Amino acid sequence: MGTASGIIRALNSGVKHLAVKRFTLRYPEEKLKFAGDGYQFDPSTGVGIAGLKGRHMLFHDHCTGCQLCSIACEGVAEAIAMVKVPEERKQNKKSIMPQIDYGKCVFCGLCVDACPFYALYMTNDYELSSFTKEGLIYTPAQLQVKPYVSQDSEIQITDRGATHG
Ligand code: SF4
Ligand code: SF4
Repeated sequence: MGTASGIIRALNSGVKHLAVKRFTLRYPEEKLKFAGDGYQFDPSTGVGIAGLKGRHMLFHDHCTGCQLCSIACEGVAEAIAMVKVPEERKQNKKSIMPQIDYGKCVFCGLCVDACPFYALYMTNDYELSSFTKEGLIYTPAQLQVKPYVSQDSEIQITDRGATHG
């Protein structure tokens, strides 16, 4: 009796879920859409702008080489090294900019909070895997390239629960 009622309960539950839309994404063919362009920080107001803490974006025309991002990271992960860049910019006398090792970075965003010159943001790019450790080190030249992030599936919340388009 117990076994029969268990089977009926299981079947009943299975039938109910036939009508529920699948929630899991077929990654990597489908990717979730995030709100915003990634985590940013406005030093003039001291307010963070919510967003995904993914791969950084470095604006060479704003970076002064002040090293504050690197200092902020020292107590966290030591993921930032200040390196020489070939270009000469008026605002960056030493011609140094941050290089980030994603083998060490914990994506806390403290370096973004520390930058007073709107030079360092985070993006929605989270696909950073590499076959080598060296491949996880992003130079200032790589960090200035805006990543292409495909995001095709949006979360939809209905009376019947959460799903995605
Ligand atoms: S986000 Fe990464 S690089 Fe920036 S402070 Fe945190 S650990 Fe360091
Ligand atoms: S990214 Fe910002 S904090 Fe880091 S060196 Fe450049 S200006 Fe300074």
